[in-house]
Amino acid sequence: MSKFEYVSIDYSTAGNVLANNHLNRYFINSGFRKNAELMEYVEMTKKGSVVFKAGSGRYNLLLVGGVHGDELASQAALIRLMHNIIQGNMKIKCRLHIVPFLIPYTTMYNSRNYNDKDMNRNAHLDGITKKIVDYAQNNNITALCDCHTTDPDKKPGFASVFCSARPLFDSIKIAKHICIDTSSRILPISDAGSILKGAVEDESNLRGIPSVTCEAVSPSGNLYEDSVDFSYMQICSFLDYFGVI
Ligand SMILES: [Zn+2]
Repeated sequence: MSKFEYVSIDYSTAGNVLANNHLNRYFINSGFRKNAELMEYVEMTKKGSVVFKAGSGRYNLLLVGGVHGDELASQAALIRLMHNIIQGNMKIKCRLHIVPFLIPYTTMYNSRNYNDKDMNRNAHLDGITKKIVDYAQNNNITALCDCHTTDPDKKPGFASVFCSARPLFDSIKIAKHICIDTSSRILPISDAGSILKGAVEDESNLRGIPSVTCEAVSPSGNLYEDSVDFSYMQICSFLDYFGVI
């Protein structure tokens, strides 16, 4: 029986993520290539942005990766989570929605931007990042975790979690939990959207869905196991906040 249901939210973002050599090598070395069910799901992203859904419970949680296509460790961490759920190594006590590759096209090209745009500054305008926030709203998502990595030579450059105090203080509470669990640094702002416009996290908070952005340290466009481990730990801590793992 298939572990995940799935729904496409955009066809224009299509790309072959395994044409990204770093990611492909990681898939081979981690044994993901041998997980036929997982590979079927990855294959689907050749047709665009897909949300994978599994489990049931009181909460509806959404994990997003690949808003920046060259941040490979967080996308790999979400694939690891899907792999573990399929293998039965991870039991989830909620309705979990996972988007490992929000923009397969940019992951394929190991690119931060999509059509020359930083999509994490675009979620207030029409496009794929707005679509994922729309999805969250239309599917009664309880909370959203946007999974990124930060290059050690760029900002923030250290393991961290972005959040905001208003309009939803839950954003701060979730971030605090992840920071204590993983020794990440909390990066709070007072009002969502007041510093940057169009981040998935800010737009989600503004629309009533508590949200955080997790940053694991990893050189952009590269993929190392310890960065995947760290991103995975942040993701598990987000789930742990809701008591669903
Ligand atoms: Zn990012």
